[in-house]
Amino acid sequence: MNIAKDRVVSIDYTLTDSSGEVLDSSAETGPLSYLHGNENIISGLEKALEGKDEGDSFKVSIPAADAYGVRDEGLVVNVARDRFGEIKDISEGMQFEAETAEGSRMVTITKVGADMVTVDANHPLAGIDLNFDVKVVLIRAASAEEIEHGHPHHEHTGCGCGGGCGDECGDECGEGCGCGGEEETASSGCGCGGCS
Ligand code: ZN
Repeated sequence: MNIAKDRVVSIDYTLTDSSGEVLDSSAETGPLSYLHGNENIISGLEKALEGKDEGDSFKVSIPAADAYGVRDEGLVVNVARDRFGEIKDISEGMQFEAETAEGSRMVTITKVGADMVTVDANHPLAGIDLNFDVKVVLIRAASAEEIEHGHPHHEHTGCGCGGGCGDECGDECGEGCGCGGEEETASSGCGCGGCS
């Protein structure tokens, strides 16, 4: 099964910037699952994944414009320090949710002065060209519910077979599945080969 629209895909990945510094990785969190073709992940990475097969590994460089966008210096604003009220220890690098004209978004404090605090509402990865080292771990058909929701339900079904483990999967796959409704790791998946 290749990666195509409305398939659930699990990937292992390492994300580095142009200097080679690791910005993010699935090594600790486990593989990332997403529903292909539903804007769950950045467009540049989704394009690179299109048509790939289970077990495929590849590297892709995605310019900032196709990743988290270019930086908008208009999103960097100075705010009077007393606007932060109760928050006592404001420090550079702190991130918090703020209400903006475009809804709530994550902002980062980039400078703390005596009276003014500089707040940057750009995405932390805006303006950064991203290098992904990706391995496709699992590809499966999505359930009707997942397609309706526009995201995978891997966390709930656990086994990754898309059949709801305990119930339908057991019926479909018999003992071959072996998931028994218990959570399986995303990388080992269901393993039954009969679910998708
Ligand atoms: Zn859902």
